Amino acid sequence: MSQENATANQFEFKAEVKQLLNILVHSLYTNREIFLRELISNASDALDKLRFESISGADIADNDLPLEIRIMFDKDKNLITISDTGIGMTREDLINNIGTIARSGSAEFLKKVSETNKDVSNIIGKFGVGFYSVFMIATDVVIKTRSFHKDAPAFLWKSDGLGSYEILQLDEAFKRGTQIEIHLRDDAKEFLDKYRLESTIKKHSNYISFPIYLENERINTLPAIWREPKSSVTKEQYDEFYKNLSFDSDEPLDVLHISVDAPIQFNSLIFIPKKNYDIFGFNRHEYGLDLYVNRVLIQHQNKDLLPEYLSFVKGVVDSEDLPLNISRETLQENVVFNKISSNVTGQIISHLLKMAKDDPEKYKQFWKEHGKIFRLGYSDYSNREKFAELLRFDSSSVEKVDEVTSLAEYIGRMKSEQKEIYYLSGASRDAVIADPHLEIFKNKGIEVLFLYDPIDEFVMDSLRTYKEFTLKSVEQVELKSLDKFEDIIKREKKEEPLGKDEEKEFDNLLKKIKEILGDKVTDVRASERLTDSPSCLVNPTDEMTSQMQKIMHMVNKDMSIPKKIFEVNKDHHLIRNLLKIFTADPNDEYIALVVDQLFESSLLLEGYLNDPHKLVNRIKDVLEKSSEWHSAVRK
Ligand code: ADP
Repeated sequence: MSQENATANQFEFKAEVKQLLNILVHSLYTNREIFLRELISNASDALDKLRFESISGADIADNDLPLEIRIMFDKDKNLITISDTGIGMTREDLINNIGTIARSGSAEFLKKVSETNKDVSNIIGKFGVGFYSVFMIATDVVIKTRSFHKDAPAFLWKSDGLGSYEILQLDEAFKRGTQIEIHLRDDAKEFLDKYRLESTIKKHSNYISFPIYLENERINTLPAIWREPKSSVTKEQYDEFYKNLSFDSDEPLDVLHISVDAPIQFNSLIFIPKKNYDIFGFNRHEYGLDLYVNRVLIQHQNKDLLPEYLSFVKGVVDSEDLPLNISRETLQENVVFNKISSNVTGQIISHLLKMAKDDPEKYKQFWKEHGKIFRLGYSDYSNREKFAELLRFDSSSVEKVDEVTSLAEYIGRMKSEQKEIYYLSGASRDAVIADPHLEIFKNKGIEVLFLYDPIDEFVMDSLRTYKEFTLKSVEQVELKSLDKFEDIIKREKKEEPLGKDEEKEFDNLLKKIKEILGDKVTDVRASERLTDSPSCLVNPTDEMTSQMQKIMHMVNKDMSIPKKIFEVNKDHHLIRNLLKIFTADPNDEYIALVVDQLFESSLLLEGYLNDPHKLVNRIKDVLEKSSEWHSAVRK
């Protein structure tokens, strides 16, 4: 053919390109398919540029050509062809853009490659050398191109990727745009397969805004709805998109559509799933947002865009301001990336605040499903005030099952002199309600938040305050500070106050109890907090709460039992009887039996009783004794 006869020109590649090509030809690859992503992305860029020229009023060659990308393959010729009707290239463009590596990324890439020297397919796309990735699969590459300028000649660029390339002017009537012919290496014939090409296009280039045809069949039919104006996207479109993205058969609980133009441009679609499907932790790694640069997927499930506590959301982020070829490592240091990250985080939080206000039922559902992971947000200092607003708890004021309350609601109900927000941890509502520490709060009608998740203690510990109120565990409350609150439930003091002598005896009884318990406790004292229980264990003041202690013990694999203060309720019937027995005979064995039993019962409630055998045997003894008494009375 005569098409290649004019102004033939042979060029040497620049040294760094040679070096790069040498590596590409001689390397091993696991991810060669990314060549397609790179070439489609270049084609899409070229089409974008053309559209821009057209809007700017330039006189454009072959103006009637549709803006599109076409991919064909020919098994007999071992050939894949990718063509676009974009901006095309002049001879100078070919020399400057294809013959040289313009980007500073090349040096970095070469350094990286010489370090790993193995699989380059995972890193090639991340540096500004996308076009050359074609040599992972090609023996020869031919580019035919014609610039959009009216009357610009068409050129042919040709290279085997070894050391030089050739540029010829084409005589044939070649229309505006670029066509890349890829003559495949023998070991790359797998790409001569419709399914293979189609799935690769779908994976990386599904949302390219120009139509992509493979063998004349349109492949990318899904619009990148995140780039559309909110008002033009229907609920059905959001739902469909979400189901495609998440493999969830249900529609999302909520969707947040973000578009920001300045100072950085990005779009994002964030979905809150109805259910938390990760109850068993099997999908612990299946999270993260899909990251697009100008509609090209550059990372599936990016884990750095959002903090872990928001990992329950699904969605995409797309920015034109990020480089297409960016590595994971450099992403995290990228200023644009970090700005997008904090913006999206902030928007999700604001969205949740709005949901909590406008649609409390929906928010309740969100909290029920995702509250467990969301609680980890206590570590996000930049959003802590909003985070505190979003927290929900069970509480002594909550009556209905499954109902929760916020800190704002708590302070709305609290007593006028109250300066602290009280909480108590336990395994369940039943456990917390049975906790002797709660008794004094019940009597005074002071609301206490109930915490069932160990994380909640960390949340409270790290927040420390809400508005001007201190968050305080009931275990660490200075009991005197509660004196200002009247009892609202009249304490049914069945027992008369002790006389002077009895008080002295009671002090002796306390000493006796201390003797019995020995170094299992730090102290034994009369209790101010108890009404219904005969005794309880109390943390020495200012130490951490029992729950926190338990966590630390677990973390440190510490099996020892933390030492606490044993408090005795002077006005409890059982203790009064014990006092009588003690007064009659200070060494009556029954005293030790009861004290040990009370002590171990407290340990059992707190989850520290490692060996229940003694306790069970003692119960048997007590039952035996009480049965004797009972049968004697019935006679
Ligand atoms: P990058 O796309 O990161 O700039 P590439 O090596 O992929 O790096 O491409 C180098 C340059 O070649 C592009 O910047 C562009 O100017 C030009 N180019 C590549 N493909 C096309 C195309 N299909 N149409 C027009 N120009 C192209």
